[in-house]
Amino acid sequence: PSAEHGKPADGVSSVIPGWFSEISPLWPGEAHSLKVEKVLFQGKSDYQNVMVFQSSTYGRVLVLDGVIQVTERDECAYQEMITHLPLCSIPNPKKVLVIGGGDGGVLREVSRYSSVEQIDICEIDKMVVDVSKQFFPHLAVGYEDPRVTLHIGDGVAFIKGVPEGTYDAVIVDSSDPIGPAQELFEKPFFESIAKVLRPGGVLCTQAESIWLHMQLIEGILSACRQVFKGSVNYAWTTVPTYPSGVIGFMLCSTEGPPVDFQHPVNHIDEDEVSKKSKGPLKFYNSEIHSAAFCLPSFAKRIIGSE
Ligand code: SAM
Repeated sequence: PSAEHGKPADGVSSVIPGWFSEISPLWPGEAHSLKVEKVLFQGKSDYQNVMVFQSSTYGRVLVLDGVIQVTERDECAYQEMITHLPLCSIPNPKKVLVIGGGDGGVLREVSRYSSVEQIDICEIDKMVVDVSKQFFPHLAVGYEDPRVTLHIGDGVAFIKGVPEGTYDAVIVDSSDPIGPAQELFEKPFFESIAKVLRPGGVLCTQAESIWLHMQLIEGILSACRQVFKGSVNYAWTTVPTYPSGVIGFMLCSTEGPPVDFQHPVNHIDEDEVSKKSKGPLKFYNSEIHSAAFCLPSFAKRIIGSE
């Protein structure tokens, strides 16, 4: 059965027998489908339906409430961009917080930086962590870094307990604003993030698709422009298995040392230590970093430049 309007799907919304179709009120009238070789896990946590299946062309796939979160084949695009767009924009990031991101992929990318001393992650659903460790070793490897501390809980509550000015960077790797992630797209949450960032600290948050969610993006943009007095920028990239094949990121900085997101000061794609320990980057590089801020006219008119 597919999702009735406004309610998350039950997990397996297969329209064509043997295929998983991603049906959601967040992208009405369309659905991306992947051929299912085998369902590897199905569960219901306190927060959401959790499913893992082996697809025929994208490797293993993690699905939460009927929405694709990561696939083995194209996760590199998302994890590398959501991590390196902020962290390559500031010199020597030391303390980083990840909210959401329970699969561990962002942790894997943050741990590439030898300047980083502390990586905190707050993921609401332990089932996602456990499922990732069992089925997605190339993502969950992020948890093996000794600098990582895992907090299981709601990011909204967690951030309230963090002293002001603690972090150089916060990365919000959240699911969509239906279900447990809803508050992660609202102004009060952005205000609490601004408080825990140092002056000139940076936020990067998952910011949906310019093809599907311009209204939602406008709302996030106006909230961020009220809260972040450094700069607010929108970047985007291609991830084939996300709805419309693209996903965006909101890049914000607090007042303080200026941050020019469009011209990276770090070049993690050339860092030999990172390449040796974690393998070469599959997607991100400094050119695609700068290009990510170039928008099509229909989006530029609404999002505008800085
Ligand atoms: N790459 C994916 C995307 O762009 O949609 C996100 C992947 S990650 C699996 C999303 C994570 O956010 C999930 O594990 C979910 O449990 C977590 N999450 C949702 N709401 C949350 C909240 N309020 N606090 C902490 N984690 C949350």
